[in-house]
Amino acid sequence: MGMFGKKKIYLDYAAATPVDKKVQRVQKKYQKYFYNPSALYREAVDVRTLIDTARLDIAKQIQSHADEVIFTSGATDANNRALMGVVRKWENDHPREQAHIIVSAIEHASVREVAAALEQEGVLVDILPVDREGRVLLEKLGSLLKPTTVLISVGYVNGEIGSIQDIRALMKKVRQYRKQHDSVYPYVHTDATQAIGIEELITVPQLGINLMSFSSAKIYGPKKIGVLFVRRGVLIDPITFGGIQEGALVPGTENVVDVVAFAEALSRSRNIYADEFIRLKKLKAFFIAELKSLFPTIIINSQLEGAPHIVNVTFPGISHEELVLRLDARGVMVSQKSACKSDTEGSSHVILAIREENPNPQTTGSIRFSFGRGTTRGQLIKTIKVLQSIVPKMHEVQKEFYE
Ligand code: PMP
Repeated sequence: MGMFGKKKIYLDYAAATPVDKKVQRVQKKYQKYFYNPSALYREAVDVRTLIDTARLDIAKQIQSHADEVIFTSGATDANNRALMGVVRKWENDHPREQAHIIVSAIEHASVREVAAALEQEGVLVDILPVDREGRVLLEKLGSLLKPTTVLISVGYVNGEIGSIQDIRALMKKVRQYRKQHDSVYPYVHTDATQAIGIEELITVPQLGINLMSFSSAKIYGPKKIGVLFVRRGVLIDPITFGGIQEGALVPGTENVVDVVAFAEALSRSRNIYADEFIRLKKLKAFFIAELKSLFPTIIINSQLEGAPHIVNVTFPGISHEELVLRLDARGVMVSQKSACKSDTEGSSHVILAIREENPNPQTTGSIRFSFGRGTTRGQLIKTIKVLQSIVPKMHEVQKEFYE
């Protein structure tokens, strides 16, 4: 139900998920544990125990040690701490050298803009390009690596188009390089926000990465709570100061309610993962097939083998911002990247990265449909009907306008 009682179709799960009922119950139950866990009375110690139990629970799920699970205020926060923290530490240890980092061309803003900020501070930043399906070109990695490469950050599943990176293959290359150079660097960080609980049952031994971010907000848990996994031995400095909480990496009084709720959300998402994965994959295949047959000029920016919950498309020549607003008016909620149709400014950097060298401004707009637990085949059929009644008209209007 929408805010005003009208039933709308929500297809924006990659942006936000509703809080699971069980998780809501946990949130309510733990409201009473308001005590500061740093205090010494028994009630405070109980709160400490609750946090430690949740930490161990999450650690077990990703097969890490409990002390490798650092609670943050979401994936944005975790990504900032990962990139800045690792670079700062390295710079402190190598005061006369210029740090070098590599990030993929399609990172979320919380990696991309941190890299840009580091570049402003004098860090050398290289971009690892992607192919037309949004997968990083691992063969280009070798020529970018340097003895001063501190960190490589490649998101696991892209939040806009759902492309999946072969993190294991990336790690293989990095391990070879480290061996040849007898170094613990470069570290590898992955933003797994769109992968955790959706793409596979992620474990850190399997991936082999040094650092990993994820958020409760995308797995039917509360927002502004996340984890930065930091493998034991990784050299990292804090970027905020004032306390010893979270191994002194994230100082400040712990948020016990959301920590416990997050652990519950993660375990719930993993329990139903297998069925959901298959269900969403089927919905995605159905949706893409229907779109292709009804809109012959459509460009599907998401591969079938990509993440099961994301379908990103381009209707050449129309304003996708307008399309999103028209869909909303007809009761369908989706997301859009790219405000302009007349030039590539404002286009998503992800869409630009997967297009040919000189992108055609008619094909750089996009909209993203993303699925979740509440998504049904019936909703997708309705959405397609709405698209059929909107898109052709938009083409006519825009043709007139430009003639
Ligand atoms: N990384 C990715 C890939 C995301 O999709 C998001 C959420 N849109 C974030 C990071 C940021 O997560 P949070 O809102 O928890 O900070």
